Amino acid sequence: LDYYFKQIEAHQHLNAFNEVFFYSAAEQAKLVQEKIDNGTAGKLAGMVIGIKDNISYKDHMVTASSRMLEGFVSPYSATVVERLISEDAVIIGRLNCDEFAMGGSNETSYYGPVSNAADTERVAGGSSGGSAVAVQADLCLSALGTDTGGSVRQPAAFCGCIGFKPTYGRISRYGVIAYASSFDQVGTITSSVSDAAILLEVLAGADEYDSTASKKEVPAYSAIAATGAKKKIAVIRETLESEALDPAIKDSILNAIERFKAQGHTVAYVSFDLLDYLVPAYYVLTTAEASSNLSRYDGVHYGHRNLEATNLNELYKKSRAEGFGEEVKRRILLGTFVLSAGYYDAYYQKAQQVRRLIREKMEEMLKDFDIVLTPVTPTPAFKIGDNIDDPLVMYMADIFTVLASLTGIPAVAIPLGNNTDSLPLSIQLMTKHFREEELLSLSQTFL
Ligand code: GLN
Repeated sequence: LDYYFKQIEAHQHLNAFNEVFFYSAAEQAKLVQEKIDNGTAGKLAGMVIGIKDNISYKDHMVTASSRMLEGFVSPYSATVVERLISEDAVIIGRLNCDEFAMGGSNETSYYGPVSNAADTERVAGGSSGGSAVAVQADLCLSALGTDTGGSVRQPAAFCGCIGFKPTYGRISRYGVIAYASSFDQVGTITSSVSDAAILLEVLAGADEYDSTASKKEVPAYSAIAATGAKKKIAVIRETLESEALDPAIKDSILNAIERFKAQGHTVAYVSFDLLDYLVPAYYVLTTAEASSNLSRYDGVHYGHRNLEATNLNELYKKSRAEGFGEEVKRRILLGTFVLSAGYYDAYYQKAQQVRRLIREKMEEMLKDFDIVLTPVTPTPAFKIGDNIDDPLVMYMADIFTVLASLTGIPAVAIPLGNNTDSLPLSIQLMTKHFREEELLSLSQTFL
């Protein structure tokens, strides 16, 4: 823990942490040490872990990197936090992220952008940018993030880490600040597959506080090793033919495909003709859900309150106008619009139908194949400030990650080395619902 405290001190310029829990982490470490000494320590004893600042931890601040939640102290812990602590992990602090997890570069945070440790002028990715950089720069061993449309996988890809998003429902969302509830999922950022596996084993499983958390039995993910089992891998052809795809990413993926073949897996190119509909469907549905989820921030219940308002309506308006940043407001407006009478059928309902088609198509593909392979991102980490003023450019960059989010399937981003500018490159593997072990064992074999 002392080592990580020093590392954090030496890397403050990266802006990865919103707060370091010096006191509670030290207390927890002492307890864990005692348990280690008397032989009663849990599965995660000694794991120093950071949590994204949208995951509640009793008696600690949680802000979702928003002014709206400035000073808000959580009265209870998220189920994932309870589970980490019960297995003796040490929670070192809360990590910077895009405001309410809305963004793909960590530039919408009220606390400012996070710098990529590979090149500090470049973004960390988002929305779990602090989580990715904290692992990349060795400021903690591993980190929790949340992934609604790629927020664990994309920053992991930009930072050369392993980003794991389990099946929707595999991990409880209780105590996680909601963005789009039918998409949100807790995920892990780690530097090894075995850390991802043991974390998933601890975090997954039923929870009486979240009815969408699956009751399916939790396999012993940590026992999963590189089995060498031969897999049938489908590469979505259109994703590699896309003009927006960076040539170095394409080359590294083609190389990876050759390596998969050399390891005895079969690889086939398949067509997925709904690619153009992924980003529109994702943004219609997630903004709709967000507009509803964020209505609770009214200046009365939580966090920021305008003190000049003279009546209730004014209090709502002023508190929300001051508390939310630009991207969050854009999404609340967009979501309110697509849900409004007269537009509901044309946008919201249509997007739900598209989501179902996408899901069916993927299920069809996964009948014939074990794994679906695509890039994680069209480009490596871009420069801070380059894309933030153009929401459409930002949204389009989510094209490869939102597929797993719309369909609820598990997906992992694994590192493929660096480009000539030393920026990390990455590949994405997806599989059937609740078959996380397939992803873990194939990633283990591959790396
Ligand atoms: N970039 C995507 C968005 O802005 C994903 C965010 C997320 O997964 N939380 O919605």
